[in-house]
Amino acid sequence: MSEKYVYFFGKDRVEGNRKMKDILGGKGANLAEMAGIGLPVPPGFTISTEVCSLFAEAGDKIPPGVNEEIVVNLHRLERLTKQKFGDPKNPLLVSVRSGAKFSMPGMMDTVLNLGLNDKTIDGLAEKAGERRFALDCYRRLIHMFGDVGLEIPKERFETILRKKKKQVKVIQDFELSERALQELISDYRRLIKKETGKDFPQDVKKQLIMAISAVFKSWNNPRAITYRRLNYIPDDLGTAVNIQQMVFGNFGKASATGVGFTRNPASGEKELYGEYLFNAQGEDVVAGIRTPTPLSNLEKEMPSAYKELKTYTNRLEKHYKDVQDFEFTIQEKKLFMLQTRSGKRTGMAAIKIAVDLVEEGLVSKEEALMMVEPEALHQLLHPVFDAGEKAKHAVIATGLAASPGAAAGQTVFTADEAVEWKKQGKKVILVREETSPDDIHGMSASQGILTATGGMTSHAAVVGRQMGKPAVVGCGELRLDDEKKIFQAGRAKIKMGEWISIDGTSGEVFHGQIQTQPSEIIQVVRGEREPEDSRIYQYFTKFLFWADQVKRLGVRANTDTPEDARIALAFGAEGVGLARTEHMFFEKKRLPFIKEMILSETKEERRKALSKLLPFQKKDFYGLFREMRGHPVTIRTLDPPLHEFLPRREDLMVEIAVLKCDEEKKNQAKIKELEKLLERVKALSEFNPMLGHRGCRLGISYPEIIEMQATAIFEAVCQLRKEREKVYPEIMIPLVGTKEELANQKKIINRIAEEVMENHKVKIDYSIGTMIEIPRAAITADEIAQEAEFFSFGTNDLTQTIYGLSRDDGVGFLAYYLANGIWKNNPFETIDESGVGELMKWAVEKGRKARPNLKVGICGVHGGDPRSVYFCHKIGLDYVSCSAYQVPVARLAAAQITLKEKDAGRKH
Ligand code: PEP
Ligand code: MG
Repeated sequence: MSEKYVYFFGKDRVEGNRKMKDILGGKGANLAEMAGIGLPVPPGFTISTEVCSLFAEAGDKIPPGVNEEIVVNLHRLERLTKQKFGDPKNPLLVSVRSGAKFSMPGMMDTVLNLGLNDKTIDGLAEKAGERRFALDCYRRLIHMFGDVGLEIPKERFETILRKKKKQVKVIQDFELSERALQELISDYRRLIKKETGKDFPQDVKKQLIMAISAVFKSWNNPRAITYRRLNYIPDDLGTAVNIQQMVFGNFGKASATGVGFTRNPASGEKELYGEYLFNAQGEDVVAGIRTPTPLSNLEKEMPSAYKELKTYTNRLEKHYKDVQDFEFTIQEKKLFMLQTRSGKRTGMAAIKIAVDLVEEGLVSKEEALMMVEPEALHQLLHPVFDAGEKAKHAVIATGLAASPGAAAGQTVFTADEAVEWKKQGKKVILVREETSPDDIHGMSASQGILTATGGMTSHAAVVGRQMGKPAVVGCGELRLDDEKKIFQAGRAKIKMGEWISIDGTSGEVFHGQIQTQPSEIIQVVRGEREPEDSRIYQYFTKFLFWADQVKRLGVRANTDTPEDARIALAFGAEGVGLARTEHMFFEKKRLPFIKEMILSETKEERRKALSKLLPFQKKDFYGLFREMRGHPVTIRTLDPPLHEFLPRREDLMVEIAVLKCDEEKKNQAKIKELEKLLERVKALSEFNPMLGHRGCRLGISYPEIIEMQATAIFEAVCQLRKEREKVYPEIMIPLVGTKEELANQKKIINRIAEEVMENHKVKIDYSIGTMIEIPRAAITADEIAQEAEFFSFGTNDLTQTIYGLSRDDGVGFLAYYLANGIWKNNPFETIDESGVGELMKWAVEKGRKARPNLKVGICGVHGGDPRSVYFCHKIGLDYVSCSAYQVPVARLAAAQITLKEKDAGRKH
């Protein structure tokens, strides 16, 4: 731990820089950086993130050594600003703001105008030559301090404010007269006295200590904890606290405050983008109290400040080599920069910006690849409304298109309702006056978000984009009545539960449920739109092409149908990593034959039934191979327990009982047939079917099934070979636990291959491998590798069996575990590196020792999870296989881990 806890930034002294995010937090590090490169930043100091845990350890107290450093830096600030904290004539006012290493927008606390009391207010008023302004600052301080420092719910202050505005008949805060503000201050103070039994503190040092303490404490408020869980931010990082000289955007008409992006965060277009409010303080913009004015207006209203803003923000983008999200304040036409950070953006914008920055020569392709979160690519595949359907629905309101994508759902008015309804399997749209960090659980449960107030950088907009949820915000026509659970938009009245549709790309709101249709990229991939007609598709393919040039891991797809295979290929899959043959049997026409096969009493009967399935299976494989044009295709032999193909036991019993009640005699034949089926169902039923008669155990006890599947595979290959198509089949055996099991299945498959090759006089190149999905196989990987030409980790079953946790049933307590941090991740989503992962590592090493050229992949759902892809790369797998739609995500993740490794190598 370092000895220094407080870092100053000001004109002649800057103690931090952008690289010090660990100890200064993002905001502190960037304030120091901006001050360092000569941008107009109000001076101040940052208390390091290390103090956050020291504070908690000391029982929520600022340790004495830190206190001394705060005092030293406060004096330094006083000297620099030529003002004095608490001086009745020339008071220094400061802001106290949180700032963690990773941005957590709106999750923690802020207090502005600190240092005001009944005496210093006179000094401020006199210096400003305007008492109204000083009163406005004071009422803001008491409000924020009451909420943050004294933990009085902010709604209580808001209610008083609303009443006052109503009483004096004004709409906006800035219209409140001096007298009204004075009364407001008295009302606020009465509230504080009533709630805490104490007066609002007049001692400015006490104000400062309480505000700093409140910010440190806010690291552990429930919404900050939830946010960290959702965004995988470790709990022990802590927040820094930034104390900075106040500049005033509420200093009359030539003052303003705003936020913006150096490029459009929704589309990625290169334009200064954002909004501001005249005569306001920072919190007003993000809180969505007034709908702000677009930044383009500033050019007309205050051309010199706008020009300066453009120059500084351009400089910031070049300096940071990335799109910046900035905050600024203009006090009497003078511009100050209050924050800069990398701008959060939609998936669509992320790709466009990354490609544009390369083409503008600002970043390299490798740097561009690191700028996009792999999961953000999912957003490009979001559905849009079907144009024809959309035209049939009336637009009831229009707001700001804050987060792209189309969503339809039933109207709910609170975050809790959203969560509750989602649990009942409903789709909902959360409709709010504005959202706040307290709503994130509801936003996460909704299809989309609609708000009445707020701009493009309001909470709903920022969080919507981050979650990849469509959002329409600042929809001024909306009149919400939260109590009656109804909202009005023009003449339309929408009650709770009624369907609405929102278009986060155009900002339109519709009554009713509009069908969605696939995104532009999906349309191209499906061949329904020409690539030349989709700019975003061109960006997407260019970007992923760069990823392919870098990555080491192969990326395949789990697909069973030619249609999916086509999509997988278009998304860049380099083969099929898993074709689950059982899916092919569930089709209506085939089910009777499968049933017949299961009900057969003799081998001969079974063979006969299987021979009826053979042509279907051959056609399946033919289609799949053909579509994959010579890329390897891994076909897995039948895996699930046979009872999955039969009706449920209870259903059969009911059906028989009903037939017997009806007319037993007439139904005799049918009853007999069903009773036979019931007997078979009973015989096949198992308490733990996932641990029973499935996988290779089926193929061993019913070799005819494997014979049929192998025949279908090799017949299909021969046909394609005759058509001069390239085919490379890999046959994979599921649920293998011992080398003998694999040897048994291999023998059958090799025999069939010989027969088919002999019949057709064609030489077939193929390989036989196994899933590694039960611990015994992983442990004895060296033995298994003597038989297997390749391994593919079935991490769904492997996780299930290593944890002793059902992949289908465990969800109830799992949700509790995750919510309470007992487990950090869901092991069925992200590979559990220290358990399942260790065994995988072991199996790779042992397997390759026995067979050096052993090919190893993964085909569990983890193959599409970026963090698991990183892990697979690190342990030396050859490829990952995931659903067709996750292929782009896996390609990017595979490129990123290669680059990260290269970077780490350079640093060593
Ligand atoms: C697995 O177990 O990881 C796997 C891919 O097989 P399935 O999900 O079909 O059991
Ligand atoms: Mg499995």
